[in-house]
Amino acid sequence: MQPYMTHLAHNLLLGLDRGELVSLVAGLDEPAYRAQQLLDGIYRKRLESIDRISTFPQALRSKLVGDGYTIGLPAVEKRFVSIDGTVRYLIALTDGQTVETVWMPEGDGGEAGDGTEAGDSAQNGPRGWDRATICVSSQVGCAVDCQFCLTALLGVKRNLTAGEIVGQVLRVLTDQNVSPPQDRVNLVFMGMGEPFLNYDNFIKAVRLLVEEVGIAESRMTVSTAGIVPRIHDFGLEAIRPKLAISLNASNDETRTRLMPINRKWSLATLITAARDFPLRNRERITFEYVLLDGVNDDTTNAEEVVTLLRGLPSKVNLIALNPGPGIDFLTPTADRVSAFQNVLIKSGIPTFVRRPRGRDIFAACGQLKRTVEIATSPAL
Ligand code: SAH
Repeated sequence: MQPYMTHLAHNLLLGLDRGELVSLVAGLDEPAYRAQQLLDGIYRKRLESIDRISTFPQALRSKLVGDGYTIGLPAVEKRFVSIDGTVRYLIALTDGQTVETVWMPEGDGGEAGDGTEAGDSAQNGPRGWDRATICVSSQVGCAVDCQFCLTALLGVKRNLTAGEIVGQVLRVLTDQNVSPPQDRVNLVFMGMGEPFLNYDNFIKAVRLLVEEVGIAESRMTVSTAGIVPRIHDFGLEAIRPKLAISLNASNDETRTRLMPINRKWSLATLITAARDFPLRNRERITFEYVLLDGVNDDTTNAEEVVTLLRGLPSKVNLIALNPGPGIDFLTPTADRVSAFQNVLIKSGIPTFVRRPRGRDIFAACGQLKRTVEIATSPAL
């Protein structure tokens, strides 16, 4: 029995949207502007407790606390800092489960020794980076079982609530002392879990992040392993991030071996969904492709990718496997990665090789397994 389970069930404010807060204050016989004050306190000021809502009279704060309300901001349980500036956070949720959230500063000073001219840094803030990306988790663990991914080894424990998805972002912004939109912050929903298997909470979180936290949807990207019906739903959303699809193989045989979910939604089904996806002006779909040595990284595979994506407004992000304990694949050499990339580029598909970030702290793609379970369990 964990001690927090014995407490009164808390009513968490974080995760409530404008409509829900309007009802809440109406139920307390308070004027409607109190809802806006709550929105500001929770999402803009990122207050840690109801006692700090200074726009509220003391009696109202006490009333909310007495009724069992808390804000419910998750806590930083551990913080790992990489030599490349990446920070991996282990975030503790109110039930004691943990997820990982990663902070990746980019631009001048974000990385030691990136060879940038000293003069350039004048354009950047005193922090030494000019934009940063936060990689956000959507579930505790993951159910999708991709064979190269460390998170898959955890299985799925539960979905995150909208408040827990937003809470990761708020916690990291506070820890880094930054505030959008003045500070350029991008979000990628590419942490632990499959966002499209927690669709409603994910979408609610996106709306709160856009409307209340102030991060533009154009600065957000969600990645899916290929949950085809949700790709369709996602295309109909009025507010939505950009779409990335984890392709990871160029034919069904290999993809099914690497991503068992391909049995349910084959490449043909997936690519059809991508072709049908209603893109905005100048928008492209990003396809991620993890290169596994001798498995899916041959130039013949690259040719197959070209065929799959022909005529589709797309770009490709190649990721050389980030190895890890329990993963039976090897990382290809840089030469093989370039050869693969060149085939795509020659056929006119913009193709980038994603630099691994925070490999030394197991924060790179697919490494968001709770390596802490292995690395730090004696300390817990
Ligand atoms: N479940 C979603 C969101 C996670 S995104 C999805 O699958 O898209 C995580 C990204 O990291 C995916 O593109 C995945 O293919 C990639 N990835 C997973 N394990 C990896 C590893 N060991 N090395 C490199 N990339 C990996």
